[in-house]
Amino acid sequence: MNTEQALQARSESRCELCGVTDDLSVYEILPALNDDAEECILICLICRDQVEGSKEMDVNHWRCLNDSMWSQIPAVQVMAWRMLTRLSAEGWPQELLDMLYLDDATLSWAQADGTNTSNEDAVNHVDSNGVVLEAGDTVTLTKDLNVKGAGFTAKRGTAVRGISLVADNPEHIEGRINGQKIVILTMFVKK
Ligand SMILES: [Zn+2]
Repeated sequence: MNTEQALQARSESRCELCGVTDDLSVYEILPALNDDAEECILICLICRDQVEGSKEMDVNHWRCLNDSMWSQIPAVQVMAWRMLTRLSAEGWPQELLDMLYLDDATLSWAQADGTNTSNEDAVNHVDSNGVVLEAGDTVTLTKDLNVKGAGFTAKRGTAVRGISLVADNPEHIEGRINGQKIVILTMFVKK
C-alpha cells in the first residue's frame, strides 16, 4: 500500500482538515522526520491553496479545525496547530489553540516550521526568488494585482518602496501603492 492509499484508508477518503471529498491529495508535513504516511495528511485543494499561500486565507473555512484538531493523528494535530497559530489574531483560533493539547514531540514538530509567533526571529519573508526581504526594502510587483476595495489594479513592475513585514505571517508584507497601504503576498514581489 502506498502513502496515498494508506491515507485514503485512514481518512475514509475525506480531507483530514475540513472533511470534503473532492480534489484530495497528499500533503507532507515538513520537516519530514521519517518518510511514511504518518507524516502526511490527505487534504483538499481548498485547504492546500491556503496552507501553501497560493490563495488568500478564508478565515471562516478554517472553523473546520474546531473538529479536526481533535484528531488522534499527530500530523493532523500539527497542521491544525500551525493553521490556528497563523490565524490566531482573529480571536477564535487562539481560543481553540488554548484548548489544543499536543504532546511534547508533536508540539516541537508543529513549531519546527518557523512560523511560531513566540519566536519571530525565525520568520523569514522571502520574495518570489527566495531572496530574504527586510523592512524598508524596495520591491517590484511580478504580476498585476487587483487591489480589493481600492478600485485599482497595481501593475506588474510597480515599485513599492519602504515595505514593512507582517510579523506573524511570512507570506505577507505591507507597502504603499498609489498612496494606499496594502498587504501584498511575498510570492508576487521581487527585490
Ligand atoms: Zn479541506
